[in-house]
Amino acid sequence: MDIKQPKGTKDALFGEVEALEQVEQALLNIAKLYGYAGIRTPIFEHTELFTRSVGDSSDIVRKEMYTFTDKGDRSLTLRPELTAGVIRSVVEQKVVHSYDLPLKLYYLGPAFRYERPQLGRLRQFHQFGVEHIGITSPLSVAETIATGVTVLEMLGFQGVSVSLNSLGDEASRNAYKTALKAYYEPQLNDVCEDCRQRYETNPLRMLDCKVPADHDRAKNAPKISDYLTPISQAYFQSVQSALSAINVQWHHDEQLVRGLDYYADCVFEYHYVSKTGKDYGAIGAGGQYPRLVEELGGPSLMAVGFAFGIERIIALLADAGRLEGVRSYVDVYIISMEEATDTYAFKLAHNFRYTNFKTELNLEHRSMKSSIKSAVKRDAVYAVIIGVEEMKNNVVTIKNLQTQEQQQVPVQEVVHLMQHLTNQPGHHHHDEEEGHHE
Ligand code: AMP
Repeated sequence: MDIKQPKGTKDALFGEVEALEQVEQALLNIAKLYGYAGIRTPIFEHTELFTRSVGDSSDIVRKEMYTFTDKGDRSLTLRPELTAGVIRSVVEQKVVHSYDLPLKLYYLGPAFRYERPQLGRLRQFHQFGVEHIGITSPLSVAETIATGVTVLEMLGFQGVSVSLNSLGDEASRNAYKTALKAYYEPQLNDVCEDCRQRYETNPLRMLDCKVPADHDRAKNAPKISDYLTPISQAYFQSVQSALSAINVQWHHDEQLVRGLDYYADCVFEYHYVSKTGKDYGAIGAGGQYPRLVEELGGPSLMAVGFAFGIERIIALLADAGRLEGVRSYVDVYIISMEEATDTYAFKLAHNFRYTNFKTELNLEHRSMKSSIKSAVKRDAVYAVIIGVEEMKNNVVTIKNLQTQEQQQVPVQEVVHLMQHLTNQPGHHHHDEEEGHHE
């Protein structure tokens, strides 16, 4: 078959799935620890949701959306990020009107962007993020930024650095846009095609152009910090001091503008350099969005949020050797030696599973040696072997695959005995996988 996976997508198999499950579980636990409730919204939304929130002038909307017309002639788009859908949902379901604010929500799920696939960049990727909606204090912004740092620390990343910038309020940005345009105007013939368009639609985006010459030009551009209104300035100061007060490592990055139009005031990115020196880009990013809730029909509420890329987290953990040995295992591996014993083994497997043992049933009737090999491959500690003789005598053979010890036990007692052997009323614990799955 010559049908391949679509460009920019990733299949996850075996150990990769267990790694994903482990990371996802850790993320959910941390979100709950910080008082966030979950939210799940559709993978596709009306296209207009993204053009209005993420913004017409953003690269995401201009070039990267998976947009299609459905059979009812609606323009729908696979979500390129999750914030827009989350806010659409809490406005539509009237949660922001009735809920005791601030509202704290976390999400985890796939997002889609038609980008050029490269290291750390996929067309279908997964984001974990939080939204902190209806905040008033700049300390809540700092709290959210710090939550992201804690998430990364709890996953084992020490020394995460946070890049921080303020895009100010609307008045600040308007003043700054005028200054930026004045700076770029004489050089408009030299900048890239994209930047020429950004000049018209969203000149701030010229600052994070990846074209080398434009990147250099951006370094000499006016700085937004010189254009912040006193209110925005003070707000940004408060966020900075709050972060310093709890020892979050941050640095002011004047070039940081972020690609989504709904951001204003504080924006931030989390960076962590892989031990192998590979650069996957920012591991996560976020910012304040003071107008989005209102623009989507809700009350005027300040909000802040961040999103992490799950694949980037996984890549960094893998580089640090922290995912080795993460794989699925079974507690009990039942081997039926021939067709005549299959039903007997089948019933026993059912009993084990109902007693909460992870159980695998082998009905392949291969040699004992090869069956035991398969059991070892599945990391089973015990094999339960059933042959015709055993069945006749109502016994089974239990083999400890670590010690090679073997004993025959009455079939009625095998589940009970296994509970005793594994010291667990229900199931067996692999020490190194404590907390995994269950
Ligand atoms: P953004 O929504 O662009 O602010 O991105 C937030 C995070 O999502 C980034 O820091 C990445 O970790 C992740 N991310 C964004 N785009 C991609 C992509 N195309 N492939 C993989 N991860 C991505």
